[in-house]
Amino acid sequence: MYSKIYDSLESFDLSKLKRSKKTKLAALKKLGINTLYDLVYFFPRNYENNAKLTKISNIKNEENVILEGKITNITSSFFSRRNVSRAVFNDGTGIIELLWFNMPYIKNSIPLDKTIRISGKVKKSRYFQIINPSYTKFIEEKQVKENIEKFNGIYSLSGSLKQKQLQEIIEEALKKYLFLFEENLPRDYIVKNKLVSRMDAIISIHFPKKLSDVENAKRRFKFEEALILEMKILKNRFNENLKNSNMYFLEDNKKLVKKYISNLGFELTKSQKKVITDIYSELNKGKIINRLIQGDVGSGKTVVALILLLYMAENNYQGVIMAPTEILARQHYLDVVKEFEKLDINVEILVGSTKAKKKIEIYEKLISGKIDILIGTHTLLEDNVQFKKLGLIVIDEQHKFGVEQRNKIRDKGIYSNLIVMSATPIPRSLALTVYGDLDVSIIDQMPLGRKKITTRWIKNDDELNKMYKFIDEKIQEGRQCYIVSPLIEKSEKLNLSSAIESFELYKKIFKNRTVDLIHGKMKNKEKDEIMENFKEGRIDILISTTVVEVGVNVPNSSIIVILSAERFGLSSLHQLRGRVGRGEYKSYCFLVSNSELEVSQKRLTILENNIDGFKIAEEDLKLRNSGEIFGNKQSGFSEFKLLDISNNIEEITIAKEYAYSYLEKTKGEVVDNNLFIDVSCVF
Ligand code: ADP
Ligand code: MG
Repeated sequence: MYSKIYDSLESFDLSKLKRSKKTKLAALKKLGINTLYDLVYFFPRNYENNAKLTKISNIKNEENVILEGKITNITSSFFSRRNVSRAVFNDGTGIIELLWFNMPYIKNSIPLDKTIRISGKVKKSRYFQIINPSYTKFIEEKQVKENIEKFNGIYSLSGSLKQKQLQEIIEEALKKYLFLFEENLPRDYIVKNKLVSRMDAIISIHFPKKLSDVENAKRRFKFEEALILEMKILKNRFNENLKNSNMYFLEDNKKLVKKYISNLGFELTKSQKKVITDIYSELNKGKIINRLIQGDVGSGKTVVALILLLYMAENNYQGVIMAPTEILARQHYLDVVKEFEKLDINVEILVGSTKAKKKIEIYEKLISGKIDILIGTHTLLEDNVQFKKLGLIVIDEQHKFGVEQRNKIRDKGIYSNLIVMSATPIPRSLALTVYGDLDVSIIDQMPLGRKKITTRWIKNDDELNKMYKFIDEKIQEGRQCYIVSPLIEKSEKLNLSSAIESFELYKKIFKNRTVDLIHGKMKNKEKDEIMENFKEGRIDILISTTVVEVGVNVPNSSIIVILSAERFGLSSLHQLRGRVGRGEYKSYCFLVSNSELEVSQKRLTILENNIDGFKIAEEDLKLRNSGEIFGNKQSGFSEFKLLDISNNIEEITIAKEYAYSYLEKTKGEVVDNNLFIDVSCVF
C-alpha cells in the first residue's frame, strides 16, 4: 500500500549509481548504508569550506574573489569625515589593499597574522583593492560570514572509501533520485512549525549554501523523526482502544471507597483526587486505562492505586498489584488487609516464598473469583496465575520492571486496564517517548505537613562524628534511622562499606541503641520479622542494603545515612532519601563519601541542593546519556539520527500532540499513503 514512488524505490539498488563500484558498495555497507534511503539520510558530521580560492597573483579587475591569507597591517583613520580602515592583505603570491568605511571596530576584530578568508569585488586603482570585503576566520566555522562560502559535508568513513568519493556518490544520488523523496509530513504540520520541505532539507544538509541552511534542515529532520516516532507509538494505542472499547461495564458503586477514604485519617491531596476522578471517568466511559502515575517518592501514589483497586472490587472486577520486592508487596498487603477485610473485600498475597500448598489455594480462589485483590511480586507472572475477571492491573515502582513483564501481566486480563506507578520521575521528554503509549498523570503535590528533608554530604571523620552524635540525639527523641551500604559483605576488590561490617561497627558506636541488619540474602521470614520490628519501633537503627530502596514506608524513621554514596546513581540516591520525610518529623539524609571523582562529587552536590525528583532526573540525564537509563533496546534511542531525546522536548511534545489529534480524527488510520513513512521500514 505504498505510493508509486515507494514501489519504485523498493526495487532500487545502490549499484545503479555509476560511482558506486563493488568495493565502494562494501564500504558503504559497513557504514550501514544499504539502500538509497540510507545513503540520502546519511548525514554529514561536519562541513568543510568548499569555496574556490583565487591567488592574488592571478586576480583581475572587477572579479569576485575569495582569497586566503593574512592581514599584516591595519590602520584606522578619518578621511572626509568618514572612518576608513585600511589593511594590507598578503596571500604569499602578492598583496592587496582592503578598505572598510565607517566600520572602526574592524581594526580590533580582525586578527593580525592569522589565516583568514576574505571575499569581495576587486577594484583596480593605484593597486588592487577590495572595498568592504567580507571576511571569515577560516578555522572557526561558526564565524563564517554567510554568502561568500560553499560547503561540503564531511562524513564518517569506513574501509577504503575516501571523503571525496562519498561526497560524489551522494551528489550523484541527489541529482538523479532526489525527486523520489516526496514530502512525507502533512502540510499543516510543516506550515505550523515553519519547516523546510523534505527535498530542500536533504540538499541543505549535504550541500548547504550557508550554515544556517544546515540548522533549518536539521530542525526539519528532528520534527520528522519525532512525528514518525509518535505516530508509531500512538497508532497501536488507537487500534487497541478500538478493539476494546465498550467491552466492560461498571456500575460505578462507590460506597466502600467512600468508607475507606473517610477512614484514612488524612485528607487526600488535590493531585491525588484529580488522578482518581480522571480514572473513574475514563473507566466509566468504557475507555481502556493505560496510565502512568508519576509522583515523587512519598507523594502518595500507593494510596491512589489502592483506592482504585477497591473501586474495581466493589464493582465486581478483580485487581492485582505487582511490586518489585517481597518487602514492598508485604507492606502493601499489611497496609490494606485489615481495612479491606472489614469492607468484605478479599485480599491475598502471592510471592516467591509463598508455600506451594498456599499457592495452589490462591490459584483456585483466583479463577473462581473468590479473591478480589491480589498483591504480589514477579511471581504473579507465572502461568498458573489466572483470574476470573481481572479488571485492573497496577504495577508499583514500574521502573523496576521491563516492558516484557508489563506486557505479560497485561495479557492476563481481557480488559487490561493498566496503571503503572513510578517514583523515579523521568523528564517529560522521556515519558513521552519511552512511555509514549501511556497517558501520564502527575502527582505534584506532597501531603500536607511534610517537613523538608535536609541533605548533607559527609566528607570526613570530623563530620562523621558529629553525625553520630546527631543521630543519637534524634533516637533519644524517639526517631529511627536507616543506614544503607552498597554491598552486603566486604569485597576484596572494592574498598566500600558493606552492610555486615557496618552492622558490627554501628553496634559499637551506638552501644545503648538497638541496631539490626537486613539484606537480600536473608531468608524471607527473617526479613519480614526485621521489617515488622522496625515498623513497630523495636529497632532504632536499621543497617541495610538497597532492599529498602523502593517504597518502604516507616514514617517514624527520620534519618537515612547512605554509606559510600558515590556508588549509587542519582535516582537511587533520591529513592533512598525518600525513605525518610514520610511522616510529620523533620528528616535528614546524610551522604557519606570521600570520593574525589568529579562525577561523584557532582552527583552528591546535585542531591544536596535539590529535593524535587523531576529536577534531579533532568540533571541525571545530563550526566549520563539517556540510553543508559532505560537500556537501548527498550528505548530505541539509538535509532534517531538527529533527534535527541533529552534536549528536543519541544519537538517531541509538538509531534505527540499532532499525532494524537491526527489519529483521533482518522480513528487510527493513516489516510494519505505518502505520509509518516519511515522509509527505512519500507526497504
Ligand atoms: P509513594 O508510593 O508515592 O512513595 P505512599 O503512597 O507510600 O507514597 O505514601 C507515603 C506516606 O504518605 C504513607 O504513609 C501514606 O499513608 C501517606 N499519605 C498518602 N497520602 C497522604 C495524604 N494525602 N495526606 C497525608 N498522608 C498521606
Ligand atoms: Mg509507593
